[in-house]
Amino acid sequence: KPEEEDEDEDEDEDEDDDMSTEGNTVIGLLGGGQLGRMLCEAANPLGIDIAILDDHNAPAKQAHNTNRHVVGSFKDPERIKELAARSDYLSVEIEHVDTEVLEEIEKNGVPIEINGETVAHRPPIHPSWRTLRLIQDKYLQKEHFKSSGKKIPIAEQIAIESGDATLDSLKKAGKQFGFPFMLKARKGSYDGRGNFKINSEDDFAEAIKALGTLPLYAEKWAPFVKELAVMVIRTEDSDGKLKSCVPYPAVETIHEDSICTKVFMPPREVSEDVCERARKLATEVISTLWGRGVFAVEMFLLEDGSLMINEVAPRPHNSGHYTIEAVPYMSQYKAQLHAVLDLPVPEKLIPRVKSSIMLNILGGAKPDSHHYLSSLARGTFDEDMDVYLHLYGKESKPSRKIGHITITGFRSIQELEAKAKPFIDLVDKIRQ
Ligand code: ATP
Ligand code: MG
Ligand code: MG
Repeated sequence: KPEEEDEDEDEDEDEDDDMSTEGNTVIGLLGGGQLGRMLCEAANPLGIDIAILDDHNAPAKQAHNTNRHVVGSFKDPERIKELAARSDYLSVEIEHVDTEVLEEIEKNGVPIEINGETVAHRPPIHPSWRTLRLIQDKYLQKEHFKSSGKKIPIAEQIAIESGDATLDSLKKAGKQFGFPFMLKARKGSYDGRGNFKINSEDDFAEAIKALGTLPLYAEKWAPFVKELAVMVIRTEDSDGKLKSCVPYPAVETIHEDSICTKVFMPPREVSEDVCERARKLATEVISTLWGRGVFAVEMFLLEDGSLMINEVAPRPHNSGHYTIEAVPYMSQYKAQLHAVLDLPVPEKLIPRVKSSIMLNILGGAKPDSHHYLSSLARGTFDEDMDVYLHLYGKESKPSRKIGHITITGFRSIQELEAKAKPFIDLVDKIRQ
């Protein structure tokens, strides 16, 4: 009976633990959150294997089956070496990783056995650990841009002394910048955790209480009219020479309580000239870094029309989620794979739609606060607007990014915004 024979074969395969990913190129990924998950979603149809270092049931692991995943922390040197030993390339979905061990792997490799012999295995690391180390320290990151020889505008900044000297150091910042100014943790921050807006000297004590144990710096307040972001694909040849920096369209990002909540492509009420300048500036910024991959450049648009760099993320980014549907032939995730593996990337990145809105789904007060929104997005069909739901397989907690909705349209961003209003109102309501 042929059917039974087929079943027998399947069982044999299971016993051998034979994976369909055997023989595929393996990218070892430090971190397995939603960015890693969407990277896997792009990798699966391309037959690229992603080995993820993170907790057992991390969002990315749910989306990609392989026997190469490693359980542990992306800050643990031993686990990172274990991942390196089973990967052809290494990359990251988060910048807060151990860069010492990445440097060591690049220099000395990790021991692996081939035909009974131990050899040093050196998977190329992209982006470079140099870039990751620089970007981890937001103060040094911007000092680097300042001294790069390119015209990269940043907010004035000063390092804040630690320990007993912190208060005097803050007073000095207040004198130099005036109020308000921003006090920031140099390392480890995301979604605005690690930022403290100082409105007057009265806030010093509370700021020291909140952040005083961390290395800090102060930034002059940027009186921006909008926040923009540009994703850039950076490619290099095998000896590390810059090949190209290709920008995606400029987008407008909306932050509420320092968390990105919405993205608009193109930016609303921003001229084409400003968007073009933003794209140029973003490519200049990324050209000063090292390694291949996609990078996000966050910037402020000031009242006088000038641009100022806020920070860079050396990986796929929230502001680029919209590219999955709006630039489907080369989403930021596919671009990350192409760049890391040195596959071709387009010379220009032109969206296939006229406008797009990305709405983050942040966890609400109750674990199921977002359920109505999810079911609405699943069931929406409209001639002028496409609605795409992404849930990340994460437990809902207040203000946690648990999913997003991308809406694309064939008319202006204003018309799309009007059409998308029910969704926009709902995401806002979930947060309250
Ligand atoms: P991310 O999640 O993007 O990594 P982060 O924790 O690194 O965020 P920043 O990007 O430094 O934080 O700041 C978060 C937000 O705070 C910015 O997007 C902006 O809205 C506001 N902000 C930061 N720096 C300044 C500044 N100097 N002046 C005014 N607003 C600022
Ligand atoms: Mg940041
Ligand atoms: Mg930021």
